[in-house]
Amino acid sequence: MKSNHLGIGMTSQRTRDRLITRLVEMGIKSREVLDVIKNTPRHIFVDEALASRAYENNALPIGYNQTISQPYIVARMTEALLENGRPKSVLEIGTGCGYQTAILAQLVDRVYSIERIDALLKKARTTLSTLKLRNVRLKHGDGSRGWKEYAPFDGILVTAAPTGVPEKLLQQLAINGRLIIPVGRAGEQKLLLIKRTETGFEEQQLDMVSFVPMLEGVG
Ligand code: SAH
Repeated sequence: MKSNHLGIGMTSQRTRDRLITRLVEMGIKSREVLDVIKNTPRHIFVDEALASRAYENNALPIGYNQTISQPYIVARMTEALLENGRPKSVLEIGTGCGYQTAILAQLVDRVYSIERIDALLKKARTTLSTLKLRNVRLKHGDGSRGWKEYAPFDGILVTAAPTGVPEKLLQQLAINGRLIIPVGRAGEQKLLLIKRTETGFEEQQLDMVSFVPMLEGVG
């Protein structure tokens, strides 16, 4: 197999196409989400030792006890966020390696992302600038408090699971905005879509999921 500049052949277009086929089989319909996933190099978000597995539909370790989300989950959450038209500003909680951030940055105007582990945030910053994604603002902090300075957000996407929906995130959601959030303890997490209306909030369950827990404070 011909290898690319990283010395691995697994990042070939065929390998990426196979992942897209799998996502379609699993029910992802949004062409724009599928296209962005297809064209985003996931292998640069993981350690070189794991790069050959980057286009499998699996979560992978990124150090510090954290993971890069499974491509299907990234696709599902992004699709749910965009279902009603493109949000302009999106807040992401749990930057991790920055993969979900990169997908969002190619689909919405502005992405704000908060991570509690500084070393992960620094790495994500480098990777995102390698990809020349400049509509992203990153912050080291506890995401359960949101990011008041830039609120309200048209969309909020949470990639670590709290046991209940943080009040601050509801407050920072714009009217007609959408919050996608996994809630619950390990083994019983539900992925929720919460829409803010003129008068309150509407909640819908999307899937059963398995995220790392949302932790308080900074790491
Ligand atoms: N979005 C990532 C998934 C990262 S895993 C991806 O695309 O793959 C979840 C991340 O949430 C971890 O890096 C973890 O450190 C972070 N996290 C957990 N609790 C947090 C909190 N209260 N505030 C900010 N980040 C948090």
